[in-house]
Amino acid sequence: MSHLNRREFVQATVATAALPLFAKPQAQSKADADWYNRPMRWAQVAFVEDDPGNYDLQFWLDYFKRLHVDAACLSAGGCVAFYPTKIPMHYRSKFMGDGDSFGDFVKGCRSLGMNVIGRTDPHAVHQDVYDAHPDWIMVDASGNKRRHWSDKDYWVTCALGPYNFEYMTKVTEEIVTLYQVDGIFSNRWAGSGMCYCEHCRENFRNFSKMDLPTTRDPQDPARREYIIWHEQRLFELWDLWNSRIKAINPNASYIANAGGGALSELDMAKIGELAPTLFADRQARRGLMPPWTNGKNGKEYRATLGRKAIAGIVSVGLEEEWRWKDSVQNGDEIKLWMVDGIAQGLRPWFTKFNAKPIDKRWLPVVEDVYKWHYANEKYLRNLDPLASIGLVYSQQTATFYGGTAARAKVEEPALGIYQALVEARIPFEMVHDRLLDAGHLKPFQTLILPNIAALSDKQCQQLRAYVEGGGSLIATFETSLYDEWGKRRDNFGLADLFGATFDAKIEGPMNNSYLNIRNDPETGRYHPLVSGFEDAVRIINGVNRVVVTPANDGRTLPTPLMVVPSYPDLPMEAVYERTKETKDPGVFIRNIGKGRVVYFPWDLDRTFWEVLDVDHSKLIRNSVLWTCGKQPLTVEGQGVLDVSIWSQQSSMTVHLVNLTNPMMMKGPIREIIPVGPQKVRIRVPEGKRISKAHLLVAKKDLPHRIQNGFLHADVPAIGLHEVIALDLQT
Ligand SMILES: [Zn+2]
Repeated sequence: MSHLNRREFVQATVATAALPLFAKPQAQSKADADWYNRPMRWAQVAFVEDDPGNYDLQFWLDYFKRLHVDAACLSAGGCVAFYPTKIPMHYRSKFMGDGDSFGDFVKGCRSLGMNVIGRTDPHAVHQDVYDAHPDWIMVDASGNKRRHWSDKDYWVTCALGPYNFEYMTKVTEEIVTLYQVDGIFSNRWAGSGMCYCEHCRENFRNFSKMDLPTTRDPQDPARREYIIWHEQRLFELWDLWNSRIKAINPNASYIANAGGGALSELDMAKIGELAPTLFADRQARRGLMPPWTNGKNGKEYRATLGRKAIAGIVSVGLEEEWRWKDSVQNGDEIKLWMVDGIAQGLRPWFTKFNAKPIDKRWLPVVEDVYKWHYANEKYLRNLDPLASIGLVYSQQTATFYGGTAARAKVEEPALGIYQALVEARIPFEMVHDRLLDAGHLKPFQTLILPNIAALSDKQCQQLRAYVEGGGSLIATFETSLYDEWGKRRDNFGLADLFGATFDAKIEGPMNNSYLNIRNDPETGRYHPLVSGFEDAVRIINGVNRVVVTPANDGRTLPTPLMVVPSYPDLPMEAVYERTKETKDPGVFIRNIGKGRVVYFPWDLDRTFWEVLDVDHSKLIRNSVLWTCGKQPLTVEGQGVLDVSIWSQQSSMTVHLVNLTNPMMMKGPIREIIPVGPQKVRIRVPEGKRISKAHLLVAKKDLPHRIQNGFLHADVPAIGLHEVIALDLQT
C-alpha cells in the first residue's frame, strides 16, 4: 500500500467517505488546547465485536450523566473498526451493518458536554491483512510469524514497522477527521515482545550495524543498542501520530498507553514532557499486590508529569493471570483501589470491556465513588503534594543493572521502602532519577535511594549538591556502584557521602546473620536510628551485603549497628556464634554539609519486602525521621493507613485510606474493618489561616486546635477512607 501524505489522504477520505457523515457532522467538541485538565472523572467502554446493535446506548449515557462523568474513552478502530471506515482491510465489526456505533456513542457523550477520545488497538489483525502484507506480522525469535495467543483468528502485528507507521497512521487520521475527537489512546501499541520481522532486522541494522540480539542480557552490546533503538522507535511513532492528529485537530493529542515505575519501558522523564495528560493503567491487583499499588502508580506518573492531569484506570473485574474479563470484583475492593488512587492524586477512570454488562454489581459501587468525588471536586483538584520525603525510582537501574532480574534487584527494594513508609504513615512522593535537579528536589527534605545502583556521574553530582544544600539522603546496598549503563565502578559514585569505600566484594545470600545494637561509647546513648529496640541486643541482618571500608574523615558518627557474620543454622548443635562481632558497621551515619546521610551497606529494603520483620520497618522509619525535620503530617492510632497531604487553590487536604485488612498484602477484601480514632497533626501553610476544618466522608466539621503552626485534631473512626479538608484564607 502506497503511503499518502496527509492532504492526499484527507482528499481521498472526503471523496470516498459516506456523505451523510459530512453532511451531518458530529457535534463538535468544545475542547480547547487546555482541555486535558478539565475532566475529573473518566469512563471507558471498550467495545467487543458483537456490541453494535446489541447494547443499550441510553443505559450508558444515563449512567454517565448520573455519575457526572466528564470524559470518555471509546473504542474506534484498529483490530476491529466500530465506525464505517473507508480504509481497505480495516476490519469492520460484522455486527455493525450500516451503523456507526462509535459515532453514535461520541454524539451521545458530547450531548452531555463530555470530552471524548477514541481508542485504537493496533496489536492484532485478521487473515486478509496477513495475506496482503505478510511483512506486517510479528516474527518470533525462531523466525515464525506469530498467531494471536488468545484468539487464533488473529495475527499479532509488528509495532515498529509499516503496519503502525503507515497503516495505523491512516486509521488514526481517519478517526480524527471524521469525529474531531479530543485525542487518540492506543492499547498495546508498543508491541507484544521482541519482533524479528524483516523491517525490524533491517531498521535495527541501519541503526546499529548489528543483528537483532537473541539475549536479554543488558550488558550484551547488541541488546544495549536494541534497548536504545526500540525506545527511540516508539517515541518516533508517538511523535508521528501526535503530529498527524494535531494537523487535523490542533486541540487533540496522541495519548499513549505508556508509563509506570522502574520496570516500565519508555523513559518517564521524556513522557512527562511529551504527554499533555496520561492514564495510569494499573487496573486491579494481581498475585501478591497490596492495595496501595494503585496509589504508587499515581506517584510514579506524577513524578514526571507534575501538575498535569493523570487518570487512574480501574477495572471493575478481577485481573490476575487468567483474565476473567467479564468478571466483577468485590465492591469494597473496587472502591479501595479507586480511593487509594484518588488519595495519591489520580482521577478515577473505570473501564468496562463489553458494553453489554452481564454481572452488574459494580454499577452502584462506582456510582457511589463518582458521586462523592463530584460533590467534593473542589478539594480533589490538587495543585501540589506537600510531602517532604522523596522515594527515588530508576528505570535505567532496572534496565541496565537489573536486566531480567530487575523485579528482585530493583523493584523489591522500592516496594520494601514503600511498605515501611505506609506502616510509618509518613507522606511521601516518588522521584524520577533523571529529574534530580535542584528545582525538582526543592520540596524534599530527604531522598531515599532503594538500591539505586546505576547512576551517572552527573546524577551523583546532583545528589551531592542536594546534600550540600541541606538535603538528606538514605541509601542502601549497591546504590551508585554502577554507572548509568549498569557497568560496575571501582568505587561507589557516592562514596564521599556514604563514608564508605567498596571493598570489591558482595556477600550473599547469607543465612543467619545479625546486627548488634550499640550505644555511643562516649555518651552511653543510643542513636535515634535504633529507637524502640535498644533492648533487643541484636536484630536480624539482611540477606546480601556489600563489603566496605569505612572512611577515616571524622565525619561518620558512631554506628549503632555492627555486623555479626553468618554462622551455621544446622545442625542445631552448631548454631552458635563463631565471631561475636566484626568491625563492619551495619549502617553509616554522617553529617555532610547541611544535610544528613544514612547508608546501609546491605539490602534492608529488599529483605524487608521479603520478610516484613518489624525491626526493619522501624529502622527505615527511624532513618527517615532522623534525617528530616518535623513532618507536615503525623497520624497516630491503630491500623494501617495510606496517607497523603495536598494543596488546592484555597484549601488543603489530608487523605487517610484505611488498608487494615487480614489479607492486606494480597488485597482481597471480605469486609471493611473500621479503625479507631486517629490523632492528626497537620502543618498550617505559612501566612494562611484555617477558616474551616471538615471531614469530606463523614460530612461533618472537625473540632481542632492550632498550636505552633500545627492543627491538632482527633479524627473519629474511619471506614474505608476519610479526607480532612482545611479551607484556607490569607
Ligand atoms: Zn518487526
